[in-house]
Amino acid sequence: MPQIMLAHVTCPNCRNPFQTPVEQILDVRADPSAKMRVLNGLVNMAVCPHCGMRGALRIPFLYHDPDKELALVYMPVEAGRNDLERQQAIGKFTSTVMNSLPPEERKAYLLQPQVFLTLENLTNKILEADGVTPEMIEEQKARVELLQRMLDATSDEALEAIIRENDASIDADFFRLLTMNVEIAQATGRATDVQRFLALRDKLLELSSEGQAARARREMLEALRAEPTRDKLLDLLIQASDERTRELLVTFGRPLIDYPFFQALTARIEAAPDAAERERLKALRKEILAIRDRLDEATRALYEARAALLRDLMLSDDPERLARRRFLELDDAFFNVLAANLEEARTAGDEQTVQALQSVWNMILRLTEEAIPPELRLFNRLMAAEDEAEIEKLLEANRDLVTDRLVRFMEETEANLREEGALESADHLALVMEKAKETVA
Ligand SMILES: [Zn+2]
Repeated sequence: MPQIMLAHVTCPNCRNPFQTPVEQILDVRADPSAKMRVLNGLVNMAVCPHCGMRGALRIPFLYHDPDKELALVYMPVEAGRNDLERQQAIGKFTSTVMNSLPPEERKAYLLQPQVFLTLENLTNKILEADGVTPEMIEEQKARVELLQRMLDATSDEALEAIIRENDASIDADFFRLLTMNVEIAQATGRATDVQRFLALRDKLLELSSEGQAARARREMLEALRAEPTRDKLLDLLIQASDERTRELLVTFGRPLIDYPFFQALTARIEAAPDAAERERLKALRKEILAIRDRLDEATRALYEARAALLRDLMLSDDPERLARRRFLELDDAFFNVLAANLEEARTAGDEQTVQALQSVWNMILRLTEEAIPPELRLFNRLMAAEDEAEIEKLLEANRDLVTDRLVRFMEETEANLREEGALESADHLALVMEKAKETVA
């Protein structure tokens, strides 16, 4: 479970003291987001209530990944007055983790955590355990530097020159880095940064080779979404010039790829104007079949794995612990398997199995609810509220959660809902927001 305590800190900017919650133990199994936060330097972020200065506090923590047997301690130089204090702090971390584990998982690596003075070395260790090589880390660093240079560009012309000169380096990984930065900026409420990143992405989509290819791909997928027919899919597949695009088209158009689809393709092959085009279309048919089989195999394997997990959960002495450990696998596919099994047991009148499945279902819903931050949980309940009186009651009972941040989140969500055409939900949310604003004020 997250280990959170209040720390007394002095703002490095305005020198005023304030209190802020800090995390001391980050356990990837209990909190899968911990890894991303560490890798992105977002652990123990604090905002000074006096001057608004924002930054990551240089406070020791222990990073624990039981599946990889990693116990890493961040111990910045300023953390302890002397070696003894530092050793004591490390000992406290490890004993806390040890005590939280069942006996069979109290392993030796926990007694000798690796200690790092810098976050950079600690994150490199995490990446290394993921099979990320030093070369890959260097490449990523180069991408981060390139991204920074783009953001620092003083004019449109300067930016365009940087993009032209680095066209070969602007690849899918670079776009992923950019997307990750957008998501982090959104998650940490930095609206101006979000705007800057998005503006840069627009420029890159327009000017870089990779961006143009990505845009072409997106347009093809849009075209298929607008007109999801076998003929349209076939036209697009024939037009698509690269394999990546064709693979995406087959993935999204999978339900359309059936016997009539292949009949239509065969007709096109027969009607081809020349031998070269005929050969090209035949190769395309082979490629589509291969992609389809690969997809179906992956889907089948996924469903088999989820069915096995469901069996394990029903047989386990401690299903909740198992569910927590394999929380990431409790996805849509898992719920599909669960629902299908439930349906089958109901039809067969097998009351005992129905009950067992139902209790797995309820337990997972409870865990899912637990994993959601309290603000979001309140938000979900407000969205489900039947009437004004219930909204008011919920807001009143959860006053401390109704913050400016929550209201901002509601505003963004309302705009998104309207954009998507979910007007009823948007209107409901507008009503909630009106009442929430009264509560904040
Ligand atoms: Zn301050």
